[in-house]
Formats: sequence, structure tokens, C-alpha cells
Amino acid sequence: MIEPRCTGELIEAVVLCEQYGLDYAVIGKGSNVLFGDETIETVLIRTVYLDAVQSLPDGRIRALCGVPLGRLAALSAREGFGGLCFAAGIPGTLGGAVFMNAGTSTGEMADVVESAEVLLPEKREIKTLFNQELSFSYRKSYLQDKNAILLSALLKLRSGFDPKLLFEEMRSSNRLRKANQPLEFPSAGSVFRKPDPDIAISKIVDELGLKGRRIGGAEVSKKHAGFIVNVGGATSADVRALIEEIQNTVEREKGFRPIPEIRFIPEV
Ligand SMILES: Cc1cc2nc3c(=O)[nH]c(=O)nc-3n(C[C@H](O)[C@H](O)[C@H](O)COP(=O)(O)OP(=O)(O)OC[C@H]3O[C@@H](n4cnc5c(N)ncnc54)[C@H](O)[C@@H]3O)c2cc1C
Repeated sequence: MIEPRCTGELIEAVVLCEQYGLDYAVIGKGSNVLFGDETIETVLIRTVYLDAVQSLPDGRIRALCGVPLGRLAALSAREGFGGLCFAAGIPGTLGGAVFMNAGTSTGEMADVVESAEVLLPEKREIKTLFNQELSFSYRKSYLQDKNAILLSALLKLRSGFDPKLLFEEMRSSNRLRKANQPLEFPSAGSVFRKPDPDIAISKIVDELGLKGRRIGGAEVSKKHAGFIVNVGGATSADVRALIEEIQNTVEREKGFRPIPEIRFIPEV
């Protein structure tokens, strides 16, 4: 595992992996990743030390890819910048969030990213891309399509808000999250993408009687059937087996196969 201390080191690590044909993955907090059980031959480049952030006077925030979303949300609230409250309870970094276009029912990264500095590893090129060029859609972005690395981003928020109200909004959304999501157990977040904006996979999983289904230490959460939680000693194989069982059951009963939102390292 490599943990770069500046974006120069991140670029160098990626370029070296490309040069020597090594399998590698850039990760943030790993909150959306299921790692394999076996020893992996993937160089992990973890960005959590790339955490410099600067607020600018006009509702903008510039941040490196490793800044935790919770910290970004708190900084924006302190400055009276609105638009980032949705991100307060998402346990990841800016890089993972832009890559995944992370969001909730009240907002997503696509709403707040003005531009992004990205590394295109195959071309060894650094580019600044504006919002439209980042091709954001539901839990998708240009970064996924092009295997691009987010180095930093400029966020455009709305200034002039009362910090107290912003903090209250974040607290209330975090209370809701705590009430509805199984935060007391480890998980990688929502397992599947919504097949349609109006269809929640958790409802279907529940309807099909899979809520609480357990394989080894992995369990379809009894609190929120969109999550698979580790209730003790779960292996990656347990989680994968449960994912496959859900996919097979939904396909048989509902005629479509749910697509995982979580990322697998190594890829499956
Ligand atoms: C309890 C819980 C609740 C969650 N709630 C939500 C939610 O409400 N909404 C939501 O959208 N997600 C949610 N998630 C999922 C996850 O937190 C988000 O997707 C988050 O943005 C991932 O950030 P990360 O830094 O942990 O990324 P990682 O998990 O480390 O990586 C995710 C993907 O992004 C890639 N990546 C990471 N950094 C970079 C970079 N700098 N450049 C290029 N690619 C990069 C990785 O290669 C990987 O493919 C939740 C997860 C958990 C565990």
C-alpha cells in the first residue's frame, strides 16, 4: 500500500504502476469497496493524506482528493456555504465521492463540482474538466468510464447561509441515517444500484423474504435490506455469495439482475 503525501507522489505512483504494467487501484477510505479474501496482487494507492482544503470567498472550496466528505461539509457550513449538507454522513473522501457521484435524495456531487483536476493514466496527462465534461449521472462519472484519477476539485456552493441552520440540517439528516441504516455494523454501503430512480432494491429484497438472510458472517441487514452487514467474522466470499443469491432471486422473480454499486478489488 502506498500513501502519497502530495499529489506529485500520487501521480508518480500511478505512472510507475502504468510503466511497469502493475495492477493498481487508487482508493480513498475504502467505504464502498469489497476487497477479496485472498492476498491481492494489486498496488493500493490510498489518498487519505491528501487532505488539504481551502475555502475561497465566493462560495467556492478547493480540496484535494483525500479530504473526508464530512470535513468538507462541516467547513462549508462554518463558512455559511449551502449545498453540501447531503454529504455530511457519507463516509468517504472527495475522490471516491466524485468517482461515484455520491449522493442522497437531497443532493449529489454533480450539483456542487464546478471543475476537477484529473490524471488520465493511460495518456499520462493532467486535465481540468468542467462539470459538463465529467458526465455525471446516477452513481456514475467520467472517472469510471476513463479510469481517471481525481487529484483535486473546485466546488461551487451558495454563500450567505446561516451556519447554525446548515449544521442543524446536517444533524437532522445524520439522525435519519442512524435511524434507517445499520451503522452499528461494518458494511460497504448500499450494495446495489437502483434499477430505476423510483425503485428501491431494498424493498424488493424485503418483499422476496431475503431480509435477515445470512451466509457465514454476512447478513442482509434486518434494518435496511439494501445493506449487507458483517455481523461477525464475515469473509469477502460470504458477502459475494449473498450478493449472488440476491441477484439470482431477483432475476428469477422480477426479471432483472441487480447491478452492484459497491466496487470489488480485485475486480470480478
Ligand atoms: C454506512 C455507509 C453509508 C453510505 N452512504 C452513502 C450515501 O448516502 N450515498 C452514497 O453515494 N454513498 C454512500 N456510501 C458509499 C461510499 O461511502 C461513497 O461511495 C463514498 O463516496 C466512497 O468514498 P471513498 O473515499 O471511501 O471511496 P473508496 O471506497 O475508497 O473508493 C470507491 C471507488 O472510487 C475510486 N476512487 C477513490 N478515490 C479516487 C480518486 N481520487 N480518483 C479516482 N478514483 C477514486 C476507487 O477506486 C473505487 O472504485 C455509504 C457507505 C457506507 C459504508
